[in-house]
Amino acid sequence: MSEAELAGFRCKYCERTFTDGRRLGGHVRQSHPVMKLGAIQQAPRPSTEGECAARVLELWREGQDPLTVVETLRVHPRFVKEVLKEYDELLNEWKKFREAQDPR
Ligand SMILES: [Zn+2]
Repeated sequence: MSEAELAGFRCKYCERTFTDGRRLGGHVRQSHPVMKLGAIQQAPRPSTEGECAARVLELWREGQDPLTVVETLRVHPRFVKEVLKEYDELLNEWKKFREAQDPR
C-alpha cells in the first residue's frame, strides 16, 4: 500500500483527506465549484438559412474542408453540400462568362 492510499482520498485542491471516495466527491463539489477546463467558446449559431449559407461559403473560401465547416457551424452536412454545390454552379457560370468575354 502506498502512502497516498493510507492517507485515504486526498482532495487535490486543498489537501484534505477523506476515508472514502464518495465523501471526497461531495467535498469537492461543495468546496471547490467546478471550473470547466477547456470549455470551448462556441461561435454563435447563424440564425437564418441565408446567414448560414454565407458562413459556409466564408469558411470554405478560407480553405476549410466541408467536414470542418459542418462541425464549426453545427449545420447538417447535406446543407453544406447543397450550398457548395450551388456555389460550384455559380463559379462555373462565372468561368464560362469570363471565357466568353475573354477567349484568351
Ligand atoms: Zn478540498
